[in-house]
Amino acid sequence: MNLRAILLANGPQPVDVIILIVVAGLALLIVAAVAAPILRKTKWFKALQKKAAKRREETERERKPAAPPVKGGMRKGKKQTALVDQEAEVEDIDWSDEETAVEEPPKAVTEPFVKLEAKPSKASLIERGLSKTRKKMFTSIRSVFSGRQLDDEVIEEIRASMLGADMGPRFTEEVIEHIKEKWHTHEITDYEHLEQYLKDYVKKDLKQWNLNVNWAESGPTVILVVGVNGSGKTTSIAKLAYQFKSEGMRVIVAAADTFRAAAVDQLAIWAERTGVEIIKHAHGSDPAAVAYDAVDAATARGADVIIVDTAGRLHTQKNLMQELDKIKRVIAKKIPGAPHETIMVLDATTGQNAISQAKLFTSVADVTSIFLAKLDGTAKGGVVIGMREEIDIPVKFVGLGETPEDIAPFDPDIFIDALFE
Ligand code: GDP
Ligand code: MG
Repeated sequence: MNLRAILLANGPQPVDVIILIVVAGLALLIVAAVAAPILRKTKWFKALQKKAAKRREETERERKPAAPPVKGGMRKGKKQTALVDQEAEVEDIDWSDEETAVEEPPKAVTEPFVKLEAKPSKASLIERGLSKTRKKMFTSIRSVFSGRQLDDEVIEEIRASMLGADMGPRFTEEVIEHIKEKWHTHEITDYEHLEQYLKDYVKKDLKQWNLNVNWAESGPTVILVVGVNGSGKTTSIAKLAYQFKSEGMRVIVAAADTFRAAAVDQLAIWAERTGVEIIKHAHGSDPAAVAYDAVDAATARGADVIIVDTAGRLHTQKNLMQELDKIKRVIAKKIPGAPHETIMVLDATTGQNAISQAKLFTSVADVTSIFLAKLDGTAKGGVVIGMREEIDIPVKFVGLGETPEDIAPFDPDIFIDALFE
């Protein structure tokens, strides 16, 4: 007797219905297991899968903020046609194997580096920073007098104090000659006269420097930072970035010191702490490629300033020159007239040595200004005056400590007043 006959004879029993459902379910499972692999191969199924993946991506993107354009992506954009053409001209640089890591602006810097309103005034920062120089230079000049009137012996001692404060031999001689003249004409007879004369003379002399940053007329300003290892380049870049950012500018730093492994990380840490963007490649990669990407990113993101870190010392001076040349060439291809500033960072604690370093660097790079770092740790602040005499490249910024806020634009009035305070 078949199932139909039983059902017809007895009417549907609950047990029969359950058996029927189980049997049907099993049959369905078997059919699905056999059909699924066949189905998966069909075009229709693949199209369906693609659609679902796209939808997932879209919802993902909506949740995250848009990532800044990366090198590869930017080339595909509408705006990039001109850049692609320019790029073809930079034929001697092989970008292909560069590992690019264009970073998003740091999102969650825990705290702003310092609260801007709590900052000490630049004048008091300079005053504090120059305390060692002041003590050495002017306490010593003042003590030369200690109740005495000007005479040959006192003048000799003033000369020694000035040289000891790294004011430079030529400048010192010039001033001593003037002092002698004014002594003979009775214009300078005591310390007060001398102090006033020195202050006025030095201020007037330093004001001949053009101390304004050479900003680009339009588009991003490119600042190349050079100097020997340990002079304070990376720290000074953090200071500049912080200063410009606090003035409302969008800043990108470029880690083009790819020579030392730690250099890239050091700059990355400062970038995060000061809340500026960084462009970096792998350690050992081509520094010019980093500069190239930084300029690209700055143009695409509408940044105001790009600050490029560079290696301090390579195997030879020729290597260094070639590297800096290449970086400059790449930058200039993208932004005619750039770099707008080539800032040389000098370590003030080395005094006259800083001037020798400066001479070496000016012979390999077209240095346009000086960042005089570590003024706080030294009694050799008078070296600024020596620089005016010996290299005559304007000191536009001074470094007065190890944190990003320890920076001041160089202002002869504030600087010289701080020395005599
Ligand atoms: P780089 O090798 O030229 O990049 O030099 P760094 O930026 O790494 O600086 C070398 C050392 O000098 C670090 O320990 C810095 O903290 C320190 N330094 C840099 N600028 C100043 C400054 O203005 N004052 C003081 N006291 N230390 C500084
Ligand atoms: Mg460095």
